Amino acid sequence: MPTADEHLSRNLPEILDAFAELVAIPSISTDPAHREDVRRAADWVRARMERAGLDARIHETTGHPLVVGRHHAGAEAPTLVVYAHYDVQPPDPLEEWRSPPFELTRTGDDFVARGAADDKAQVVLQIAAAEAALAAGTLPVNLVLLFEGEEEIGSPGLTPWVREHAGELEADHAVIADSMMFGARRPSLIFGMRGLAYVEIEVRVGDHDLHSGQYGGAVPNPALILARILASFHDERGRVAIEGFYDDVLPLDDELRRVWGSIGFDDGAFARSAGGAALSGEEGFATHERIWARPCLDVNGMVAGYTGPGKKTVLPAVARAKVSCRLAPEQDPERIVSLVERHVRKRTPDGVRVNVHGRQANRPFRSDPRGPLFEAAARALGHVYGVEPVRIAGGGTLPIARDLAELLTPSVAVLGFALPGANMHAPNEWIPVEQIELGARSMVRLYQELAGAQDHDPSPSAARSVRDPERPHPG
Ligand SMILES: [Zn+2]
Repeated sequence: MPTADEHLSRNLPEILDAFAELVAIPSISTDPAHREDVRRAADWVRARMERAGLDARIHETTGHPLVVGRHHAGAEAPTLVVYAHYDVQPPDPLEEWRSPPFELTRTGDDFVARGAADDKAQVVLQIAAAEAALAAGTLPVNLVLLFEGEEEIGSPGLTPWVREHAGELEADHAVIADSMMFGARRPSLIFGMRGLAYVEIEVRVGDHDLHSGQYGGAVPNPALILARILASFHDERGRVAIEGFYDDVLPLDDELRRVWGSIGFDDGAFARSAGGAALSGEEGFATHERIWARPCLDVNGMVAGYTGPGKKTVLPAVARAKVSCRLAPEQDPERIVSLVERHVRKRTPDGVRVNVHGRQANRPFRSDPRGPLFEAAARALGHVYGVEPVRIAGGGTLPIARDLAELLTPSVAVLGFALPGANMHAPNEWIPVEQIELGARSMVRLYQELAGAQDHDPSPSAARSVRDPERPHPG
């Protein structure tokens, strides 16, 4: 009987054909005109899971369907839930694509298409991994593939479904297969994502705009008041100056700082990826620490008065801003919203109306980077890629990770196979061709590691020869 790896290598052309089929279905979840395409993609995923040997079902939600594929290994076996999504973002602007967005196009060593990286390659490779393991008779975990069709519109149906079915899922571990590696051939395991508190601020002085000659200098200007408030959000050391903002933030672990300091985060490349922006932030922290572990506050937009062509001598009646805070693991977004509100009210002059409206609050996600899932995944990725994966955090917000950690199991890892700069949500989205097979092999190995059956396939991969024995063990 061929091993799972042999099965994957042999079937690779067929797996890539399947990838092309899925990519060709424009499953754009936000566009009602594509509702049937999203349904078609769900049907395709279900059929593909069934072909792989999984018990595959479609579950209706209030929106686009959820596809769940299961394999039962036994009551003693650990249960691994793998999350991914089969919907995609719209391809616009179309004229910037160098190949048709819904046609899987090979360009050099990469595949290019809408959804190539986010998240259809991961859907396909996860099913391929299960198929190969089953074909080789070595799928020793209870596996639940949980693939949704609403990720790009905020997953409204997923969390209610998971909450309702948490008992029957009995998950020991969960993997979020919707992310990227640290770099080419540098796999990563993500154990934390920042939370989000989003507020809108409106400063109003009257019912209507005023003539700046007749009223200027005699009534307050909301644009100036708002500007002063926004400027008061930070001190000169780059820290958020809102009273109580850092109360719950724990100091960064020394060992973590040491490990992160050794993985070669490239400030220059980061600045280039930011369009050549100068790097700045909270004093005393490195760039990667500022993103992965420290909270921040940003103004996302501000508008007041006349901003069209020419001039209009007007005193605006109202000024508005949108502000987001990314939060460290211990911070409570609801509390942060009220701290922001208190800060703003304190700085609003008498007779001026201010409205602070909390728009969104997502709690941070944090898992144990030294837990059994991370140890098993580190061995699996190390086996396939030949290097120890880096254990890092993400600066963004991933509500599904937090929800799975709360509802199913605290043992959640974000583990994806796209690469930085994959043009997710943008034209010419890409993923390296080799990632399909390497990703699937990593998952097969992870099943074995989790089940404690890692001696099944002891042959080290060819990639192991590039292992760097000097690389410290991240944790
Ligand atoms: Zn995604």
